[in-house]
Amino acid sequence: MNLSLLLLMLLLLLLCVLPGSSGHNHHHHHDDHHHNHDHALEDEEAVAEKDDRRLDKMTKQQAQQQEQHYGSQGQYKSFRQWTQSSDFKTTGARCGSHASVDGTAKAKQTYAKWMKQHDCDDETGNCPYMQHLRMGHSFRTIQVYWHSIQKTQGTEGASETVIWDAMDVLNSAFVGTGFQFDLMDITVTNYTPYWEASRQSQDEFDMKAELHRGSCEHLNIYSTGADGLLGWAWFPWDCESSDWYDGVVLNYNTLPGGSAFPYNLGDTLTHEVGHWLGLFHTFEGGCSANGDFISDTPAEAFPDYDCEQNRDSCGDGGRADDVTNFMNYGPDSCMDHFTIGQVGRMHAAVSAYRPKPPRPWPY
Ligand SMILES: [Zn+2]
Repeated sequence: MNLSLLLLMLLLLLLCVLPGSSGHNHHHHHDDHHHNHDHALEDEEAVAEKDDRRLDKMTKQQAQQQEQHYGSQGQYKSFRQWTQSSDFKTTGARCGSHASVDGTAKAKQTYAKWMKQHDCDDETGNCPYMQHLRMGHSFRTIQVYWHSIQKTQGTEGASETVIWDAMDVLNSAFVGTGFQFDLMDITVTNYTPYWEASRQSQDEFDMKAELHRGSCEHLNIYSTGADGLLGWAWFPWDCESSDWYDGVVLNYNTLPGGSAFPYNLGDTLTHEVGHWLGLFHTFEGGCSANGDFISDTPAEAFPDYDCEQNRDSCGDGGRADDVTNFMNYGPDSCMDHFTIGQVGRMHAAVSAYRPKPPRPWPY
């Protein structure tokens, strides 16, 4: 037998083995993926053999889903190993939200206007209204819709208890900022493609198109596997064009008691909600004079992952990096505050882009 004949036979064999795409099991979707295989023309024995092979392939796929690995080569066997690796830091998996040129301009503009309206000091961000907020005299309540995504088999998702714990962490973090969060509803969806959805993928679009509730003033949280990232958020000024895409996508391993050590006390949610309310990372602008365009957060050359106190990465005249800021990259145990300027920025962005229209419940 010559080589080309052998290759042809191999090719034919491969074509026989290729499986058809299978439908998914998702309780919000109708099963419109029913496949109509015409078996009449095929030899029964061959069909049985093919089904066996398909079954074999399916169990292999399921096995792979069971033991998911992380990192570019899948070299980390657990999420805990992954978040403690140096690759986690160098690949930017900590957070997927970064400032765009357009977003930066809008953030700057609304902040400057708000500061002027409330007679706030340019350097410190302080003003009578800020004192009012910090004393807890007035606040804005944000209604929250939590979408707990699990794998299709109903595994690996945030439980209701964990979600309530996370809401407590979020509300504690925002004490004195003039924001509080009120959990309105929890939905549960078992669908692996949503669980695995990466940032700006078709699966993320589909998930949000299906599940998003309310409008720009409502916070939608999707707890998922987040494609190996800790999370990402949609900025307030991005909500103008498409409110159904708005919200926070969060890795469920970061929730209180999760496996994303040292990011498993729930402050990834605080950080992502900070983005959702209009904040950038403390290191976003590097050492440029403006940094994150908030005057009371020192400029920072690169993120802090290790809670390195007294670090001055830009060497800008004795102003140490704000490594304990919620918008830095430190461990949850390290982060504990927003600055006055950041609080002003959040209120500025919310009044400009997340206004509360006078609409009666239900929407
Ligand atoms: Zn971030």
